[in-house]
Amino acid sequence: AKRAREGVQVYVPDPVTGTSGSGRLRTMEELRTALDGDELRVFLQPQMDMRDGRIVGAEALVRWEHPTRGLLSPAELLPAAEQAGLLRPLTDRVLELALEAAARWWHEREMPVSVNLSAANVTDLDLAGKVAAALHRHGLPPRALTLELVEDTLMADPERGRTVLADLRASGVRTSIDDYGTGYSSLAYLRHLPADELKLDRTLTADVDRDPRAAAIVQSTVALAHALGLSLVAEGVETLATSATLARLGCDVAQGYAIARPMPVADFLDWLVASDSGLVDCALIPQLHR
Ligand code: C2E
Ligand code: MG
Ligand code: MG
Ligand code: MG
Repeated sequence: AKRAREGVQVYVPDPVTGTSGSGRLRTMEELRTALDGDELRVFLQPQMDMRDGRIVGAEALVRWEHPTRGLLSPAELLPAAEQAGLLRPLTDRVLELALEAAARWWHEREMPVSVNLSAANVTDLDLAGKVAAALHRHGLPPRALTLELVEDTLMADPERGRTVLADLRASGVRTSIDDYGTGYSSLAYLRHLPADELKLDRTLTADVDRDPRAAAIVQSTVALAHALGLSLVAEGVETLATSATLARLGCDVAQGYAIARPMPVADFLDWLVASDSGLVDCALIPQLHR
C-alpha cells in the first residue's frame, strides 16, 4: 500500500506478498487451495532432556511450500491465514500432519509431538472432540500429543483458556504454555492453569550466560514450575554456553539450534535414528550431566 504522509510516499508492503491489494487477495485464495491440497508441511524440531541427552519430544512447525515463492515461514503465512479466517482449518491440517509423523515413531518410542494452537482454536468449542478424532484416526493415545498455547492467547480470555486446557488435559492430551515470560500473565494465574509444561521464551534463555538478571528470572521460573508440577522447556537454545547454564539452573528440556533446526519429517525420522546411535553431530550431549 502506498500511503501519503506529510507529502512523502511511504510504501508499506504486505507481510506475505510484499505487495498489496490484489496481491493479498490472491494469497488468501492460494492459501485456501494450499489447505485443500498438498502444499502445507510441518517441520519437526527435537527436544532434548538436559539430564541425559535423550530426545523426548518434537515440535511441529508449519511451513507452506508455495508453488512459486518457495518455502514460507509461519511469520509469512499466519497473518494471511488469520485475515482469511483460515486459522482453524490450518490447525486441523497441521494436527493431521503432526500426528501422521508421530504415528511413524510411536510404536518404537512413546514420544509426544507438539502442535501450536492459535487464538481461533481457543474459541472453538469442538476442539477437544476434533483432537480426539484425529488421535483416533492415527491410532495414537492422547499422551502422544502436546498442545501449546501462548501466554497472551490464554490471557485474552483467561476463563475460556482455562476451560479449553482443562478439557484437553482431562482427555489425556498434554498441555503447554508457550513463550512464557514475554506476556503479561500474572504469576497467580499459573495457579489455576491446567498445564503440564512451561516453555520459557528465548528472549530470556538467550541471555542467561551473559546477564545475571536473566539467569535469576530463569532460576526462579524453574523453581516455580517445579513447585507447580510443571516441566520446564527452554526454547531457542543456540549455544553450548547457554545450554550449560540452563542445565545448571535446572531446566528440564532444551529445544533450539544447538540441538537441531526444524527439519522436514523424513529428515527428522533419519535424525532420530542417527541420534539414537550417537551419530548426530550434537556437541551438547556430553556436557549434559549435571
Ligand atoms: P514457537 O512455537 O515459539 O516456535 C519456536 C520458533 O523458534 C520456531 O520458529 C523455531 O524455528 C524457532 N527456533 C527454534 N530454535 C531456535 C533457536 O535456537 N534460535 C532461534 N532464533 N529460533 C529458534 P518458526 O517455525 O518460524 O515459528 C514461529 C512461530 O510461529 C512459533 O513460535 C509459533 O508461535 C508459530 N507457529 C508455528 N507453527 C504453527 C502452527 O502450526 N500453528 C500456529 N497456530 N502457530 C504456529
Ligand atoms: Mg510453540
Ligand atoms: Mg515458543
Ligand atoms: Mg516463540
